[in-house]
Amino acid sequence: MRLSQYPIPTLKEVPADAEVVSHQLMLRTGMIRRLAAGLYTWMPIGLRTLRKVERIIREEMDRAGALELSMPTVQPAELWRESGRWNEFGPELLRFKDRHDREFAYGPTHEEVITDIARRELRSYRQLPVNFYQIQTKFRDEIRPRFGVMRAREFLMKDAYSFHADETSLAAGYRLMFEAYGRIFTRLGLKFRAVDADSGSIGGTASQEFHVLADSGEDAIAFSDGDEYAANLELAAAIAPAAARGAPTQPLTKVATPGARTMADLCLFLGVEAARCVKTLIVDGVDGAVVAMVVRGDHELNALKAQKLPGVANPLRMASAERVREATGAEPGSLGPVGFPGRIYVDHAAACLADFVCGANEKDQHFTGVNWGRDLAVPEGLDIRNAVAGDPSPGGRGRLNIARGIEVGHIFQLGRKYSEAMGAAVLDEQGKNVTMYMGCYGIGVTRVVAAAIEQNHDANGIVWPEAIAPFQVVLVPLSYQKSAPLREATDALYRDFTAAGFDVLLDDRDARAGVKFADSELLGIPHRYVLGERGLAAGTIEYRHRRDSAAVQIPLGEAVRHVQGRSAA
Ligand code: ATP
Ligand code: MG
Repeated sequence: MRLSQYPIPTLKEVPADAEVVSHQLMLRTGMIRRLAAGLYTWMPIGLRTLRKVERIIREEMDRAGALELSMPTVQPAELWRESGRWNEFGPELLRFKDRHDREFAYGPTHEEVITDIARRELRSYRQLPVNFYQIQTKFRDEIRPRFGVMRAREFLMKDAYSFHADETSLAAGYRLMFEAYGRIFTRLGLKFRAVDADSGSIGGTASQEFHVLADSGEDAIAFSDGDEYAANLELAAAIAPAAARGAPTQPLTKVATPGARTMADLCLFLGVEAARCVKTLIVDGVDGAVVAMVVRGDHELNALKAQKLPGVANPLRMASAERVREATGAEPGSLGPVGFPGRIYVDHAAACLADFVCGANEKDQHFTGVNWGRDLAVPEGLDIRNAVAGDPSPGGRGRLNIARGIEVGHIFQLGRKYSEAMGAAVLDEQGKNVTMYMGCYGIGVTRVVAAAIEQNHDANGIVWPEAIAPFQVVLVPLSYQKSAPLREATDALYRDFTAAGFDVLLDDRDARAGVKFADSELLGIPHRYVLGERGLAAGTIEYRHRRDSAAVQIPLGEAVRHVQGRSAA
C-alpha cells in the first residue's frame, strides 16, 4: 500500500475530547472517526488491525471446534420476554418498534436468539456438545460511552454459546474456551490475565474475565504471587487475618475531635494510624431500615459483597444524611457501631481490632480504646471489603498483588438459566427430555484494539505487537519523488517483501524525512527501512525496529531475510 493514498491525517495536536492514550492515538493515526456518542467509523488503516484481530480469534475458535454462524442484530421482544430480560435489562437495551407496532431490540448480546435456535435445531444428546459463535456488531446504550471504542455503544463482539447434555460436559466445554482464549491473547501479543469474575446480569455460576494489563485499565484485578489465585477486585476474597484479636488494654474514652470529618483528618488529629480505626458506612436496608457496615479505617467497603448480605438494599445505596441523622442522631464523619440502633455488619479485619477508634454517633466526638466483647457485642467477622495489596492469598499461598486491567473477554458457565426459561431440551440416551446446559463466551473485538494500544505505546505513538500491526514493514525512501534509482530500488524491495508475505506500507509522500519518521513512529509499524541515496550507492539500507533505540545498517540484499529473522523472534 502507498501511504499517499491513505487518508492518514496524523494530527499534530492531541484531540481535546480524547481522555485516554488509545483514543488519542486512534484519532491521530486516522484509525477511527467519531460519528456520534459511542459510534465510530473504522477507517481503512484501523480496519486492517481490526481484521487481523478478528482473524486470530476466528482461527482459534475454529481450532477449538466452534461453528461460526451469523444471527440478526435486530431481535424480537418476545424472546426477551421469554427469558425475563425484557424487563431486567434496563435502558442499555435499545428498544424500538417496526411499522406494525411490534417491539424489537438491537442485540446487546445473543443468549435469547441462540437458545431459540438450539431449541428448534437440536433434538438429541448425540448432537451435543456443540458451540456456535459469531463475530458481530452489538449495541448497548451505555450510560457513559467513553474512551473511544473502549466503551462504545456500537461495538464488535465475538460471542460464542455452547450447549451440553450435562454439567460435566459444560465444564469441559468451558475449559476448551478458556484454553482457546489463552491462545488468542497470546497470539495477539498481549500481556493478559484470566481472573475469577462476577457473572452480573448475564447470570449463571462460574465465570472468568480476561484482562489486558494496562495502568489505565478501568478494572482492578488481584492475583497471588504464591499460587494460582486471581480475581477481579470486586470479587477477590479478603480473608480473615491469621492473628487473633488482642485483649483490651485501654479504657473506653470519648474524645472531642472538632472538624475531623475524614479518616485522614481524624488520624492526624488523634495521631493514630487508619489501621487502628474503623469506618462506619450507613447504607439503606430493605424495609426502610438502615444498616451499618464497619471496615478498618484503611480499607474500602466492597459494594458487590455488601449488597449480597441479608437485609441490605441491592444495588447498594448509601443512606441519605437525613436517614443517618434519624437513625443515629449524628452526621456522617462521626458515626460508629457503639450504640448503633440497627443491624451491623463487620469486616474480618475490623473484627480483629482491639483498642480501636470509632465515631461516637455525636457530632465531633469519637471513642478511643474501643473493644469488641467489652464495649460492643463480639461480631461475626465477614468479608465486606476490597482486598488490598499484601493481603494473604485466598488460595492459601503467597500474598495478593493488585494490577489494573481492561476486560477484553468474559466466559461464563450459564447452566440452565436460558434453556429452562425458553424450553431448550434434547432427548437423552433413555429417550427422556433433558434441559440443556449452556456456556457463553465473549470477546470485545473492537475493545481489544484499544487495549492493545493502551498496553503498547510510547511518547512517539503506537508500538504495535507484530500480529496486529496494520502493516508489518514500512519503507521510507528519502527522495522517492526525485531519484529514479532510489524509486526503483524501493519498488523492488516493496515487491520482495510482498512476495515474502509481509504487509508493507510504502511512504511515497513528497514530505520531509522528519515528517516521515514521526509518522512511521506514530503509526507504530514494527519494522522500518529507510532508503537513502548514499546508502544505496554503498548497497546498504537502514533498519530500525519500533522497539529499538538505534538504527543499524544492513546490506540491501539481506533486508527480507533480516525481517524474517526478527519477526520470528
Ligand atoms: P463491561 O463490564 O466492560 O461493561 P460487560 O461485562 O458488560 O463489560 P460482557 O457482557 O461480558 O461485557 O461482554 C463481552 C465483552 O464485550 C466484554 O468482555 C468487553 O470486552 C466487550 N464490551 C462490553 N461492553 C462494551 C462496550 N460498551 N464497548 C466495547 N466493548 C464492550
Ligand atoms: Mg463482563
